[in-house]
Amino acid sequence: MTDYLFSPEPVISVPVQGQEARYPIKRIFCVGRNYAAHATEMGVEVDKEEPFYFTKTPNTYVPSGAEVAYPCGTENYHYEMELAIAIGEDAFEITQEEAHSKVFGYASSLDMTRRDLQLNARAKSRPWDLGKDFEESAVISEIVPATECGHPTTGTIQLAVNGETKQKADLSELINNVAEILEHLSKFYHLGPGDIIMTGTPAGVGAVVSGDKITGSIDGVNDISLTIK
Ligand code: MN
Repeated sequence: MTDYLFSPEPVISVPVQGQEARYPIKRIFCVGRNYAAHATEMGVEVDKEEPFYFTKTPNTYVPSGAEVAYPCGTENYHYEMELAIAIGEDAFEITQEEAHSKVFGYASSLDMTRRDLQLNARAKSRPWDLGKDFEESAVISEIVPATECGHPTTGTIQLAVNGETKQKADLSELINNVAEILEHLSKFYHLGPGDIIMTGTPAGVGAVVSGDKITGSIDGVNDISLTIK
């Protein structure tokens, strides 16, 4: 038995709808600026550009329904409602036609963001890690197996804060859809089981403060919620 200097972290895993077995997370990729109206509100125009990515460490995962503390180091803490893809099979250099067969399932997710730190980094052409990859920043709902929900390409994605709708769009508005993302990302990584990809947020991002409750849903996938203590 291997001797460690200290106890290793437990495996981080997400519940799966209708199953006892959980989905262990290996990596979390996030797509940036994947809805045109959101790119515009962030001050950037996109045409059909190549997707780009940032990552969140698996231990940033928080289950839906959690209460989290207002994070340190920010005064502009934002929600971003996103469709998440959970990969189920090895996928390297795959085609769009193959892409759906590599997906285990889908979830609703929140790419929680320290917007002030992200924009500060962006302005200085520095990495976004402080703004994106922080503790309790990756909220993911139960994963719905594709055998149950299919591969959603249309349907409403929406988010409300304290019951007031803030984001509402359709999955068909994704600049790069699920198949296009997987074809592109699999050129750069040997994707496989345990890899989760957050596909980007629609317009309407904004700040939350202590006491706020975020609720979101994606038609045919799942609901999600988060309370800020
Ligand atoms: Mn995002």
